[in-house]
Amino acid sequence: MKLPAIAVLGTMHGKADAIAPPLLQLGVSLVVPALDTDGFGTFTGEVPRKGTMLEAARAKARAAIHVSGIPVGVATEGAYGPHPVLPFVPFGRELLLWLDTTTGQEIVEVIADEEPDFDQVEVNTVGAAEAFLNRIDLSATAVAVALRGAKPASVAKGLRERAEVLAAVEKALARAGSSSVLVQTDMRAHCNRRRMRMIGRLANRLAERLSTPCPACGAAGFGIVRHERGLPCSDCGTATDLTRAAVRQCTVCAFEIQSPVADRPHASPAECPACNP
Ligand SMILES: [Zn+2]
Ligand SMILES: [Zn+2]
Repeated sequence: MKLPAIAVLGTMHGKADAIAPPLLQLGVSLVVPALDTDGFGTFTGEVPRKGTMLEAARAKARAAIHVSGIPVGVATEGAYGPHPVLPFVPFGRELLLWLDTTTGQEIVEVIADEEPDFDQVEVNTVGAAEAFLNRIDLSATAVAVALRGAKPASVAKGLRERAEVLAAVEKALARAGSSSVLVQTDMRAHCNRRRMRMIGRLANRLAERLSTPCPACGAAGFGIVRHERGLPCSDCGTATDLTRAAVRQCTVCAFEIQSPVADRPHASPAECPACNP
């Protein structure tokens, strides 16, 4: 197992602070090239993200590899919005990609944040923006103001003072016309403490994974790639929707090991679609 001495970070907004230390412990130094990743999508919508989170992270890693000439790249991508099950609860996802173009190997780590410092509102009065400011914590996150609608545009970002936010909203309302004005927690990592922490956790996981060699071929990065559903019913053996196993895999040679994740070998008949339709 051999790790490169350097990797390039295809991501800005101070994320190296969170990503570099655990990689450095493995002897991998992170290089941060001049790269404007806002062209790959912004949280306030003036530049929509192209493709999935993984595709966006891959595009950033490849861009960094291209400008630096360093063959191994790292990039992150985050997505914030309503919870998939509870629409009034905010929800976040973060993805970290390690891409080694010498072998084609990709290592992907993802994390879900059930309690992100994320909130947004569309306003047409300054008063509505004040109500938004009353419910968020400006010491934990900055705020961004943008025009939505036909001509999405950023008005101001990184605002940390109430007065700055309200002035930006006033300016945006004057320009808005038929567009709406979006006031949102600024999700860029250096503006949102919690998001930076989540990225740090992902970086730790990546480091742990990179220090685990594949038992078959010895490549770095053996770890969990997916979970399998189908925990069998104790009564009739039907595969239920419950998680059965974690699959650890090598993304170089595809060797994999499945191990049970449930604290019990079977689902109960009450959880079974055949016994309890
Ligand atoms: Zn392998
Ligand atoms: Zn059953």
